[in-house]
Order: sequence, then structure tokens, then C-alpha cells
Amino acid sequence: MPVITRPKVVILGAGFGGLAAARSLADFAEVTLVDRHNFQTFMPLLYQVATAGLAADHVAYPIRGALRKTNIEFRMGSPISIDHRNKEVKLDSSEVLKFDHLVVALGSATADFGIKGVAEYSLGMKSVAEAINIRAEVMRRFEDLCRFKDETRLSISVVGGGPTGVEMAGALSELVRGPLTSDQAQAAKHIDIQLIEAGPRLLPSFSPSLSSRTQRDLEKLGVKVFTNTAVQEITARKILLKTGVSIPSEVTVWAAGVQGQPSAQNLSLPIVGTRIEIEPTLQVKNYPEYWAIGDIAGAKGSDGRFLPMVAPVAMQQGAFVAGQIKRVTEDKELIAFKYKNKGSMATIGRQKAVVEVGKIRLVGAPAWFAWLFLHLFYLLGGRNKVLTMTDWMWNYLTFDRGNRHIMDSE
Ligand SMILES: Cc1cc2nc3c(=O)[nH]c(=O)nc-3n(C[C@H](O)[C@H](O)[C@H](O)COP(=O)(O)OP(=O)(O)OC[C@H]3O[C@@H](n4cnc5c(N)ncnc54)[C@H](O)[C@@H]3O)c2cc1C
Repeated sequence: MPVITRPKVVILGAGFGGLAAARSLADFAEVTLVDRHNFQTFMPLLYQVATAGLAADHVAYPIRGALRKTNIEFRMGSPISIDHRNKEVKLDSSEVLKFDHLVVALGSATADFGIKGVAEYSLGMKSVAEAINIRAEVMRRFEDLCRFKDETRLSISVVGGGPTGVEMAGALSELVRGPLTSDQAQAAKHIDIQLIEAGPRLLPSFSPSLSSRTQRDLEKLGVKVFTNTAVQEITARKILLKTGVSIPSEVTVWAAGVQGQPSAQNLSLPIVGTRIEIEPTLQVKNYPEYWAIGDIAGAKGSDGRFLPMVAPVAMQQGAFVAGQIKRVTEDKELIAFKYKNKGSMATIGRQKAVVEVGKIRLVGAPAWFAWLFLHLFYLLGGRNKVLTMTDWMWNYLTFDRGNRHIMDSE
């Protein structure tokens, strides 16, 4: 009987893609998973941390907890280089991990498209720490505003009208209309929430009717929506538009773009745009034992365009790459990855959401409940599910939000 040796697989990044790959590989490979954090972040709910709807630890799940009852090794650290000849990856702890296959799943980072001031004067939302920062900044400005008894106003802007920007603007508005109004109504009524989008409509990846509905719902919540409004520069307390007009913005949240994680460039892998160049099999171009999945991978759909940077792509690719590595091990032919698009959704506020699955479109309460159920389903860990549901029920029934603490580093 031939002896089947278990291939050594190192996976860089324990997000949606990396974890899916690790779990699918566990039965037939020796897997080491590497991440700079010891927890996985459930990004789709970060905006609720930023707007005091959820406690930060509800959206973070310990990686070691996710790997219990498996033989998967975990290392907290970052890759600093790859020795391609010896198939070794070096971590910042100086540990060197040998591999037969390397899966790169490092995700994405905020893209500023070269717009001046984004890094200095706006707040990104790609991590739990950044979400806590946004919450602290909003609450700190609110505390400032509470000192004034005159007409002083506070403008909070969200740049980017995709799902993250829409969800953020809607949740900010509900924070102001509910808890902050109960805390100090005089200050709350002087807060403006603005959503700025360069293109002609919000949620450009949805059908135009859902974009219009989203804009109407946001406006009903008091959000000022600016479409066809491109940002030229962000400065302290102001956003300068391409038209030359500037608008006040004491807090600016940048939700306008993502790019492949720049740390991949340290690994000397081929890059296309900002992502790793790959074959339809998900193998990295010219490196058949390297694979890239999720946001960092330059996978294209049947229309020749990059696949969207969303969790289902990463999870499907994670499971798929495990199958590919198994095929290599068993000397079978590789196949091309095909993304199964199961639809898109975005929530706008209490009983307000949009869902699009093929030709099916849902709005209002049914879409909102579908959104709640799906996010709860995919959230990792029983504790996180129960606590998230508890926070949601509390928020829903009391119109309050208990996580309004200023808890960033001072
Ligand atoms: C605010 C926000 C909201 C979103 N909402 C949705 C949504 O509603 N629905 C949806 O489908 N998608 C959503 N997305 C997109 C979705 O989160 C990503 O597409 C998905 O996380 C990609 O999975 P991934 O495995 O490629 O990367 P990630 O899940 O980002 O995982 C990458 C991992 O790599 C690690 N890492 C990165 N750099 C290093 C390094 N140098 N060293 C070590 N480790 C490193 C990170 O810590 C992370 O754990 C949202 C994203 C954001 C930012």
C-alpha cells in the first residue's frame, strides 16, 4: 500500500478565507495558521461596534477556540519574507515555517485612491480597534457639543455609498435619534449625518430601484445624502469637494474603498492592481504550490472583472483551495474556481434593509429580519451569537444602546 504523507500547509491570515481553508484541510494536511491577531474579526458587524450597538468582543472570536478539536497549529505573528527556493516562510517572531503549500489569505486594507488627507484626517473601519476609535471620536465630539447651549453644530460624514457606508450612516443616524437624544436632546438635534458618494447612486452593485429605496430610507432617518459628489481632499474639520466647495465635517469616516493587503508585497509575489495575480485554479501565477484566496486574490468572474471583496467569495475559495491541494496530493487534475453569487444585502436601520438574490428583491422588515438572521448564523461562537442577539433585542426594545463608552487609548 502506498504511504500517503500529509502535505504541510501554511495559511497566512485567519479571516473568512483562511479559517475556511484551514478547517477543510484539517483532515488530510498538517496545517499551520498564522495571523497577527489571536482572534477573527466579523467585519460585517464592525459598524455596529462603531455606533455603540454592539460590544467590541461580540464581533471577535478567539482563533484557538475556532481550532479546538482539530490538529491545526496556530501562530500569532506576521510573515516577513518567503524563501521560495526552500519553501519556507519567515515570521516576525523569527520562526521559520516549512511548507509544501502556502495559502495567502491576508485580506484587504483601506484604499485612499491618493486623496490627500484621508490617512491623517479620516477614520477607517477595517478592524475592531478602528471601530472603537470611531465610537470614541463620535462620543467625544458629542460630549464637546453638550457644553454649548447655542446653535453650534456637529457634522459627521461617511464617505462612500457602498454597503459599509450606507450601514454606517444609517446606524449613526439611529444613534443620534435614539440614545443621544435621550442623553441630551439639545446637543443631539444639532448633529448632522452626511453620506457622500462620488457615483450617481448609492449601493451601485444593487439594482437602481433598491438604490433609490436606500436613499429614501436614509433621508427619512435624517441623513443628508450627496451623490455625484467626489471628494478632493480631507482636512481637519472639513471635506473639500472636487467642485471647489467645502463642507464642515468634524468626524469623517472613510468607507470609500479597499485594496489588497499591502503586506503581500513583502512576500515578492506577482501583483495585479493591488491583489495577488492568480490562475483560475487559484494558484499564484508562476508559483504552483502557492495559492491566494479572498480579498487579496485577483480572482476574476466570468465577466473578466475582479470578484467583489466579500466574505462569501473568501469562504468559497477557502474550501475550494483545500480541495485543490487534495487533488494535487492525489495526482488529480486541478479545476477552475467558479463563484456562486448568493446575493447581496445591506441594512439601513430598524426594520429597514435591502436584499437582492438574483431577481428576488426584498425591502423593509422582511429584508431586515433576513439580514439579522444571516449575520447571526455566520457569526462565530455560541457566546457571540447569544450576546449579539441580547444586545440587538435590548436596543430594539429600549431604543437605547449601552456601548457608548469612550474607550480608545487616550
Ligand atoms: C467594515 C466592513 C464591513 C463588511 N461587510 C461585509 C458584509 O456585510 N458582507 C460581506 O460579505 N462582506 C463584508 N465585508 C468584506 C469582508 O469582510 C471581506 O471580504 C472578508 O473579510 C475577506 O475575507 P479574507 O479572508 O480575504 O480577509 P479577512 O477576513 O480580512 O482576513 C484577513 C486576515 O489576515 C490577517 N492579516 C492581515 N495582514 C496580516 C499580516 N501582515 N500578518 C498577519 N496577519 C495578517 C488579518 O488579521 C485577518 O485576520 C466587510 C468588510 C468591512 C471592512
